[in-house]
Amino acid sequence: MKSRIGPNGVHFFDRHSGLNVLLDELCPNEAVWSRSPRQVSIALTNLCDLHCTHCFAPKHKASLHADQVLGWLKELDTHGCLGIGFGGGEPTLHPDFINICKHAAGETQLAVTFTTHGHRLTPQLVKRLKGSIHFARISVDGVHSTYEKQRGKQFSSLLKGIESIAAFSPFGINVVVNKHTILELDAVSELASQAGASELLLLPQQPTNAVAGMGEIVGRKLHDWVSNYRGKVRLAVSEAGASGLPTCDPLPDERGLLAYAHIDASGILHSSSYSAIGENIEEEGILSAIEKLRKTLEFQEEVQS
Ligand code: SF4
Repeated sequence: MKSRIGPNGVHFFDRHSGLNVLLDELCPNEAVWSRSPRQVSIALTNLCDLHCTHCFAPKHKASLHADQVLGWLKELDTHGCLGIGFGGGEPTLHPDFINICKHAAGETQLAVTFTTHGHRLTPQLVKRLKGSIHFARISVDGVHSTYEKQRGKQFSSLLKGIESIAAFSPFGINVVVNKHTILELDAVSELASQAGASELLLLPQQPTNAVAGMGEIVGRKLHDWVSNYRGKVRLAVSEAGASGLPTCDPLPDERGLLAYAHIDASGILHSSSYSAIGENIEEEGILSAIEKLRKTLEFQEEVQS
């Protein structure tokens, strides 16, 4: 198991089973806390073959180099990061996607995960990924015609992708919650259960230039749905939009850049994929960029208060 030291104790994590053990009787001194965020997401490319209206991924052409990514992963691994999530754009469109996953799993102790629209998950591609990923996340916004309107792709093609990944890896289902999908959460959770998913991640829609955020009425319906949920698949919710929902956080003091960071496809570090404030990752490495970004964010907070 990999260990990590933070304000809430000593955290052990097994990337193969997903087991987390927190020794919260211990109160480690700040000087020994792990310096890396607990989780980091990396947009390998901005390229995508879908055109979802709620998409917040940047649209300019950008892609990361495999060597650059692996260098960052080794540094994050050494400093206590537990997991890495590849995304985009569509990460499977990156020409070195399989190699990056193989090296990440083989040369670090990080849990390697990725988020995909699922339509490129052929049995051949999934077979090549076997042993190199620990968890996959598939985006499923509603079912049947609702899904097809949201994503512009056939629902039957998505089901084939889910079937392929289910045979090789633990996986979860992500659903963007908006006025179109809120009424289909029962159907999506039923699909997750039948397909063998181990997590249903709710992503309350965030505003972009093209769409509004989830809104108050949908927010209230989501609260009721979560409160009455009796399904078998574990529920999770993104931090953005979680406010007001009945959640449980075992690491309440591990916040901000201690908990999470995002690297976009241009190699710029952010506190989240929605944040416009960023720090270029230069030759000194990613820990140095994290430190600079922390100072910038602290300064911003001081100015605003
Ligand atoms: S599949 Fe994902 S990255 Fe591609 S357009 Fe849709 S939301 Fe954006």
